[in-house]
Amino acid sequence: MILIDGKETAHTVRAELRAEITSACSRGVRVPGLAVILVGNDAASQVYVRNKIRACAEVGIASFAHRLPAHTSQQELMALIQRLNAASEVDGILLQLPLPAGLDTHACLLAIDPAKDVDGFHPENVGRLSLGLPGFISCTPAGVMELLRRYNLSPAGRKAVIVGRSDIVGKPLALLLARQAEYGNATVTLCHSQTADLAAECRSADFLFLALGRPRFITADMVRQGAVVIDVGINRVADGLCGDADFTEVSKKVRAITPVPGGVGPMTIAMLLRNTVQAWRQHTA
Ligand code: NDP
Repeated sequence: MILIDGKETAHTVRAELRAEITSACSRGVRVPGLAVILVGNDAASQVYVRNKIRACAEVGIASFAHRLPAHTSQQELMALIQRLNAASEVDGILLQLPLPAGLDTHACLLAIDPAKDVDGFHPENVGRLSLGLPGFISCTPAGVMELLRRYNLSPAGRKAVIVGRSDIVGKPLALLLARQAEYGNATVTLCHSQTADLAAECRSADFLFLALGRPRFITADMVRQGAVVIDVGINRVADGLCGDADFTEVSKKVRAITPVPGGVGPMTIAMLLRNTVQAWRQHTA
């Protein structure tokens, strides 16, 4: 059984990015820059933003944190986004979600310059992904694909089942796995809460991707012998964090599996850094 180590893989990706930045900067190229906008006092969001800023520093990306009060108006937020769109030292703009009630998330995401949309949430980048054009791919599905690539686990021609159809995980992952590209070409089934027989769908999977947000919901009897299981779920339980799979039992019958924590989670931030470097390359070319 292969334990897919997201922490180690993310470390390798970060080291590669750091080397690229150091080398370019030694030739006089300016450093990459990521602007992070946090509105309000959501405790989890504050932790995420702090981790993202720390990760930027580790690889040599300059970060510009904009912490705004919860009562910030839509106009103020839009004005900040416009300023950051125009700022030449800013390659990527990240708007930490969720926004406080009263702010229009869709309008804000739409206002971000697609060339700086390192989260890959702008409709232009979502459309590019669905058409197979180059663009920014949202970080968690990009992290899942990177794990498949680094562990040489190709789903081509195999049956891939995704549980969860959110805009940030399940849906883009379905597009990535189905596209005509390396580590694509899977036959994809996208499951959700209305799926008639979830257990049967899961059992049919050569590659099973879990993004439901239900602790240890996927039990060993729902998993095919020899399957590859990628668990995106992060659930807070009494004894810490766990995924959507019952890891102890499921791991006994799989070919490969990601742990939680230490699987997909660390890859998400690594892909945010990679997207920022991608934007920087384009802006400094
Ligand atoms: P959402 O809540 O947006 O979506 C959950 C999806 O799962 C929905 O499509 C829902 O179906 C489906 N679902 C929920 N319960 C069931 C069920 N019993 N049977 C079948 N389908 C079900 O979640 P996210 O996509 O944002 O996140 C999913 C998980 O991934 C969470 O645990 C989250 O914490 C984690 N996550 C981890 C990240 C990382 O970096 N590793 C990043 C982002 C998320 P329906 O559409 O019908 O409601």
